[in-house]
Amino acid sequence: MFCLKTVPAPKWVNAEILLKRLSYNRRLRSTVTSSSTTRPEKTDHDRNRSGAQRASARLQSPGKSGRAGRDRTNSSSAANEISVDFEQSQEAYRSKDSLELLRSLVVFKLCSYDFLVDKNEEIMNLGKKILGQKVFDQLMKMTFYGQFVAGEDHISIKPLIQKNQAFGVGSVLDYSVEEDISQKEETQKESSSVSTGGKGSIGEGYIEKNYEAGKQLGGSQREVIGTCTYIYADEAKCDQHMETFMKCIKASGGSSIDGFSAIKMTALGRPQLLLWFSEVLVKWQRFFTFLSSQQDGMEALDQRLELTQLQELMIKLGAKGDFHGWFTRKKGESAGCIDILDWNSLIDDRVNTSDLLLVPNVKLDKLEPLLKNLTIEDENQLKRTLERLDVLAKCALENGVRLMVDAEQTYFQPAISKLTLDTQKIYNREKPVVFNTYQCYLKEAYKNVTMDVELSRREGWCFAAKLVRGAYMYQEQERAKEFQYEDPINPNYESTSTMYHRCLHYVLDEIALNRKANVMVASHNEDTIKYTLKRMNELGLLPAENKVFFGQLLGMCDQISFPLGQAGFPVYKYVPYGPVSEVMPYLSRRAQENRGFMKGAQKERELLWKELKRRLVSGELLYRPVY
Ligand SMILES: Cc1cc2nc3c(=O)[nH]c(=O)nc-3n(C[C@H](O)[C@H](O)[C@H](O)COP(=O)(O)OP(=O)(O)OC[C@H]3O[C@@H](n4cnc5c(N)ncnc54)[C@H](O)[C@@H]3O)c2cc1C
Repeated sequence: MFCLKTVPAPKWVNAEILLKRLSYNRRLRSTVTSSSTTRPEKTDHDRNRSGAQRASARLQSPGKSGRAGRDRTNSSSAANEISVDFEQSQEAYRSKDSLELLRSLVVFKLCSYDFLVDKNEEIMNLGKKILGQKVFDQLMKMTFYGQFVAGEDHISIKPLIQKNQAFGVGSVLDYSVEEDISQKEETQKESSSVSTGGKGSIGEGYIEKNYEAGKQLGGSQREVIGTCTYIYADEAKCDQHMETFMKCIKASGGSSIDGFSAIKMTALGRPQLLLWFSEVLVKWQRFFTFLSSQQDGMEALDQRLELTQLQELMIKLGAKGDFHGWFTRKKGESAGCIDILDWNSLIDDRVNTSDLLLVPNVKLDKLEPLLKNLTIEDENQLKRTLERLDVLAKCALENGVRLMVDAEQTYFQPAISKLTLDTQKIYNREKPVVFNTYQCYLKEAYKNVTMDVELSRREGWCFAAKLVRGAYMYQEQERAKEFQYEDPINPNYESTSTMYHRCLHYVLDEIALNRKANVMVASHNEDTIKYTLKRMNELGLLPAENKVFFGQLLGMCDQISFPLGQAGFPVYKYVPYGPVSEVMPYLSRRAQENRGFMKGAQKERELLWKELKRRLVSGELLYRPVY
């Protein structure tokens, strides 16, 4: 029999260890949290709201009778239900002069030509050769760059931020410079020093193939660049990125009192290590599913594992230790079973990258290392990635800015999300400072969202999320096909939309229940925005509460952002900035990513035409926005 007090920590839980998450870092964080500043009560949105609400919002009569009682978290709010009219071209473009409208029309039209989008890199290179860099840059500023990018640096973007703010739209500053392709050689030095465990181990199949595919960063950098993942050069470069993000955060703080700043985790450390950590996390979860396999088909959060059963299983697999006792020590003597969050907490608390986690190899029927050891240098690099994130969260807190961690490819995302959650645990104690991102094109999106909401409830921090459909679909699908693992993306657009609305529904319910959570609905999809407004009305969530934010990209869907802002909803534009030549690669890929959207930009083009014609007829062609 195993006895808690006499038996040393089990070897597999040498995992005790896995990824010892810098205890000193935790201490540092707790100091930061205790000295946190409180966000000003009154926000820029509040200030803009009263005047703006007159514009396109209209107050409706109290809600219909037959609503479910649970939808009525605030009965008095029903009288203030607000709907927004997205057909109002005059209101949508009030912040734009006629030249800007014309530019939007030209750019959207150009983006609808497949050959221009497909060959945009070649066309741009040719353009540069023929026109010369200076003239080419100027041309770009008058067209694509001018449409989608705010300016070269955090100073030159200020007028645009202020103008949008004056019309009720905030900014998520997003420094969007990609690494130069010439760094390819440097990156190829990157070796796959981090390797997987043997064949047959838990998670073999999808996981290993996916991560093996991801490991070939050196060989497949074009894809990685193509979706705007930073390329690792060295630690100094990561420090430089961190400094840039800090400037961006300070600029956000300086330009508004309720700003956001976006970061990409792959800029903060070696992607190989994010890949490695992702693999560990996914295998670790699969191990739980394996152990509780009799409950197949259940929602992840409903799966339970009896501790006595765990003990027996582990002994059968040849492990020695007091597994039962390990969990009861954490949960209290009475705990008889654990769920996935208890299981995951093992990785939280017992983190030391230099040791090994053991999982069963089902084929060989024995335990074996989950992954091979990391070198000391690997470990230090992983620690530094966490430290950089910590510095940024602290900087955001001090500057009254919220930090938005973007979601990236599936083979990095578990690690990105986990590091973000651990940071939220520290910084989101009193208010949401750090926002995670959930990609609803993933089959696992709902599971991820519900698990993280539940984690935030148990640990008592404010859940904060940006919900997106996902930007890496084509890359993910091609990769899955190439490396023959299950496609992580939902089978079609409709299932992605259903997933989005399911996740959103869940988070909105959470907000209605405890008002601690925040969400940003980051979408250009009018139906999704309308769905959110409807749900907010049903739940009595008022725009002025600043719990539900909306996000669109700069230069897109102004007919959604501005009416929302003028109706008093907290809405933000993702505002990319950076020097022309360095932002262009990012922009050209954005056009490709958004090809579907661009084709569907027909409505936006119609509204632009309508407004231009109205100005022409009414003699307002020289209209200049006043603010
Ligand atoms: C403010 C903001 C922040 C963003 N941040 C991120 C981020 O951090 N990470 C990230 O990955 N993306 C991010 N995006 C991009 C986002 O994921 C989408 O690519 C983009 O917004 C288009 O989705 P939509 O809801 O706006 O429009 P829609 O046109 O309604 O949806 C298009 C999206 O649906 C999905 N889709 C399309 N066809 C299919 C299909 N056949 N099967 C399954 N799914 C399909 C894809 O995700 C596609 O991008 C962000 C977008 C915004 C507006």
